[in-house]
Amino acid sequence: MKVSPTGAPAWTSSKPPLLRFLNACHADFLPETSGAVADYIPELGKADPAHFGISLATLDGHVYEVGDTQVPFTIQSMSKPFVFALALDTLGAARVESVIGVEPSGDPFNSIRLNAENHPFNPMVNAGAIACSGLIHEAKGDGAFEYIRQALGRFAGRELGVDDAVYSSESLTGDRNRAIGYLLRTNAVIKDHVNSVLEVYFRQCAILVNARDIAVMAATLANRGINPVTGEQVMTPYAISRTLSVMTSSGMYDYAGEWIYRVGMPAKSGVGGGILAALPGRIGLGSYSPKLDRHGNSVRGIKVCEALSAHYDLHMLNRSDNARNAVIADYDIGENPSRRSRRPHEQKILAAHYQDVRVIELMGTLSLSNVDYVARQLVARPRPQFVIFDFRRVTSMTLAGARLLAEEFQELAAYHVTVIVSGIKRADAEWQPIAERTGSLPNMRYYFLLDAAIEWAEDQVVFRHGGSIDFFETTELSEQPLLAGLTDEELTDLASLGAVRTYQPSQKIITTGDPATSLFFLRSGVVHVTLPDGIRLATLTAGMAFGEMALLEPRRSADVRADMSATAYEVPLHDFERFRKQHPRAGERIMRNLAQLLADRLILANAKLNLLTSN
Ligand code: GLN
Repeated sequence: MKVSPTGAPAWTSSKPPLLRFLNACHADFLPETSGAVADYIPELGKADPAHFGISLATLDGHVYEVGDTQVPFTIQSMSKPFVFALALDTLGAARVESVIGVEPSGDPFNSIRLNAENHPFNPMVNAGAIACSGLIHEAKGDGAFEYIRQALGRFAGRELGVDDAVYSSESLTGDRNRAIGYLLRTNAVIKDHVNSVLEVYFRQCAILVNARDIAVMAATLANRGINPVTGEQVMTPYAISRTLSVMTSSGMYDYAGEWIYRVGMPAKSGVGGGILAALPGRIGLGSYSPKLDRHGNSVRGIKVCEALSAHYDLHMLNRSDNARNAVIADYDIGENPSRRSRRPHEQKILAAHYQDVRVIELMGTLSLSNVDYVARQLVARPRPQFVIFDFRRVTSMTLAGARLLAEEFQELAAYHVTVIVSGIKRADAEWQPIAERTGSLPNMRYYFLLDAAIEWAEDQVVFRHGGSIDFFETTELSEQPLLAGLTDEELTDLASLGAVRTYQPSQKIITTGDPATSLFFLRSGVVHVTLPDGIRLATLTAGMAFGEMALLEPRRSADVRADMSATAYEVPLHDFERFRKQHPRAGERIMRNLAQLLADRLILANAKLNLLTSN
């Protein structure tokens, strides 16, 4: 370990705790040498029993590797879940499910026994897996193996090769599997020649992988079929969930019950020495160590899975969901209005009707319990006229969450509440389950920016209560909050210092970083204040000042652009300073007004921060 001059370990040698844990597992189980390398396929007997690799892939695409994770070995029975998923997606669930069962057999993997309907018990035992290879052969003929190899490569995120020696070795000696093949054919589970189907099966079992590959393949299963490293949707969520189901009940053969009871993770082993475990929504694990127990499962691999599950309490049935964690903030426009500076009569209306606009900012995954919680929050307070749901931080929605949300939107619409959605584009793929169900809702609106949504809802409240918003109206200096309390004479003096400027729509008026040499009083039109990266700080309408920070700061700290044609008084700073000297009372008043406006902004900013952190 590198040591820094202060004696503390160098930060660069720090490891994520999960990697430390995997290292410890590796060290703990390396001395475990019980079990035997499979040799019923003679070529497998050549494996080095010392090899031991552990890899863990996270669903954000990080892959931890410890030990011999780059040593290639044949996938064997770990091909079964992937070929089953492939068969479901290629031939359709109905066809596959009509010839292969999903009950655990309680038998060893190579049992020559079918169920009462003369079908394989499940796709995880050899009979079911050979049936799957037969289905792929039916659909793809001579191209069947290549089709399978490509599909497994998409799960692994790289092109996978084949161990020809292991393949021929099994093909020469695989009489038991041939017996199963004939049994399947006589029961019409496979229709093509037994030999051609078994060639596909033996080749698929001889596909070469390493521990890292199977961790990524497992993580793809755990991630609803999206490979977390390549981002590719490899199989449909239906195929993936059904595959995980049979892995849960039958993945470890006649040890399956014990396995799911103790470890609680869908898993699959192969006689090549690999074990893959996929914990849905969490992780994919791949381990490689060739010595097997009497069930044909890797001895060290089982220990790794048991240790990981026990240490981090990963049993898949030991779960709960916090219904509240999807609501990051829930407020009305009294607590957090838009960034549009409102004129006094608009402020008055909004102050009286602040409960009309409710904003719910959501985050993370929207599930059944989260969305139900949101729906209950809405009924718990007086019914608003407008509800804005902000999706900017929503990362995904379960189907249940999407359904419930669409139903909630319909419920709100039935009570004439306008639903406004922000932070998402109507055309976004993840939005489609909701768009389909809410397409006919009368007054749903979409805004990309939350602030724009709040601003629109506020405008509606102002209109509904008789307030007008006249962007073309020209205001006088006497209406400027910054100049409140000045006498007519003082105002006339100040006006004589300013020049009236006219701006075209989207014309830039102030540029960040420029010397601040004047202040502006907007007479008509609308301008907006943005940071150079485009974040909108405020929208100002006639009667508001901008560039007023020139009184405190030597340089402009934001950009200002006209939204529509606008006019403003521009007062040069040096003239303004002269005015302050001539009218000390007015000067003092203006500075007080400025302090008040800044204090109001600070109070709002703090309230907003509070909303986001107190939930
Ligand atoms: N190819 C091997 C067989 O059919 C696969 C068995 C396994 O990995 N459990 O015997």
